[in-house]
Parts: sequence; structure tokens; C-alpha cells
Amino acid sequence: MDTKSCTFPSALDMNKLPIVRIKLNPPPLRCIAEAILPGLLENFENVSAEVVQCPDLTQPPFNLTSEGLCGDENVLDIGDITNLIPSIKREKLYNVKDLKQITGSDPLVIIGACGGPYPFFGADSECVKNVKMAGDCVENGTHIYMTKSDDNTECYHKSLPVDEMRFSLLANLFTSNGIKGEVLKIVCEVRKGPLNFSTCISEALAKHFGDEIIALGGVILMENGKVKVHIVKPSLPKIPMKSKIELDNWLHFIELSPPLVGVGCIVSHDPGLNLRLQHFHLYTDRNDGGHYHDDTEPKTIKYTGYFNVSKQFIKID
Ligand SMILES: [Zn+2]
Repeated sequence: MDTKSCTFPSALDMNKLPIVRIKLNPPPLRCIAEAILPGLLENFENVSAEVVQCPDLTQPPFNLTSEGLCGDENVLDIGDITNLIPSIKREKLYNVKDLKQITGSDPLVIIGACGGPYPFFGADSECVKNVKMAGDCVENGTHIYMTKSDDNTECYHKSLPVDEMRFSLLANLFTSNGIKGEVLKIVCEVRKGPLNFSTCISEALAKHFGDEIIALGGVILMENGKVKVHIVKPSLPKIPMKSKIELDNWLHFIELSPPLVGVGCIVSHDPGLNLRLQHFHLYTDRNDGGHYHDDTEPKTIKYTGYFNVSKQFIKID
């Protein structure tokens, strides 16, 4: 698409949008580990949950901008599906630099799943957000995944330049100071139930903690077994879409081979804010990535997740 022929809106200032802040009083990680084991065992054959020192996430296969997931933790849910259905709201363009003021964190490290910055490419894309802001220094480790065309499912990857920190439509982000420290390590192998890894954790948390919100953010490593993802077609329709089923027609569904890494968030309970309870975007050292749906080889699948628990939940717009 010729981006010069289009006029695009400038990014909204998130500080001026409706913000709901919910202070959380999370239980210790070891209590969360114990609490979710029964739920995980209903869905997976081999399961463990324990508290460990976070591996260095700047190293392969993670390659993130910061070592850890600790310090001033927040889970954020920005925008929602009503920015897509019944029609695409192109004005829903945001910039993660606003999160510095919203969280008050410095350094601020952001990881998670969101819509790519539409104006930058003049096309829709899946975005693996990873930005570190420390003082005036910015490190942008964000990945974008797109398909060649609406008819061609071949996937390609782009990295964003340091000053391109925008995203579109909706986001589920985890922020912290990016410091090393203790995290929750969850390993699940051989799926026997119907739930994907992140939904299984969300439901296991809900089963134990009820209406208390537990919000996790972090990384998932898939070392074994293939995984189904979607990548939005480059040109979402200008015509209205009536349902999620119609929206599915505008997604390419593809299968990815391991190893895969994902970043995103898990929330146990929606107190009526129209939240996404789990959302992960996957990346690889190859050209493919996308929005995580499920594993397609349950007998061989192996997930390893490293998560921290959030002290605050923030809903924006
Ligand atoms: Zn997504």
C-alpha cells in the first residue's frame, strides 16, 4: 500500500484516556505455584510449578531488552475488541512512551502482545512489544509479523526502529523495572485436556482465587511440538464486521515449529472491564511469529513459562 496517499491519525495520549487502576495484593509466588497445580494437572500429563531465579532474558532464546521481570510490576489491558468489531477504529493508535508517566517506573521495561503500528507499514500486523526506557535512553526490541498479502500466508518479520513505539487497536502488556529476581516457573508437557497453556493457567488461578484478581506477565518457551497462531491480513476490511467469526476471515491461521518464544499476560478474573484474560504473541529467530492460539501436537508439546505477579492492574481506554 502506498502510505503517502493516506492520512493517518496521530497517536492518542493515553494519559488523557479513561484509566482504571486496581491495586492488587498478590499472594507470594510459592502460594500461586501450589494453588494452580491441580488445575494444570487436569489439562496436562506432566506439570511442575516452582519459584526460581529468573533466567537471563537478554540471552537466547529470549533475546529481550532486560534480564528479568522484577520491580514495580504492572499488567495493562489497553483498548479492546470493540476497536475491531463492528468496524476498524484507525484512530485507536497508542504509544508506549506514555506508559512512563502512567506507571511512574524508571527504568520501564515493557513486554507483551498488541496490534502493530498501522501507519508505519500502511498495513496491519502482529506486534511482539519489547521496549526498555531508562532515563532518556530507549531500547526497542519490538518484532512485527506480517503476511505477504491477503491471499499469501507466507510470513515475514520486521524489527522496529528505536523511535517507533506506537501500536494499534489493543494491547496486553506487562511492565516492570526488568530486574533479575524470583519468578514463577511453570512447566507443562503432553496436553490431555482442551485448554491451551495460558488459558489453563488463567482458569486454574480463577478456580483457586475466585474474584480476587491475579495478574501475571512474562515469557513462554515452546521447545517441542507445533503451535497454531494467527497473523492478521495486511488490509483489515473497511466494511463493518458483525462478529468474531467474520473477523476470523481476516486472519491467516498458520502452524509454527519450535523453538518458539512468547510474551504476554494472564489475568484470572474480569471484574466487568471487558478484559482479555490471556494474550501472547510468539516470535522466533526465523521469519515467523504470531498470535498464540494452541498447540497442534499435544503428545509432544512442552511449555516452560517464567512469570511474575503484578501489584497493579491498569485498564486504559
Ligand atoms: Zn494478538
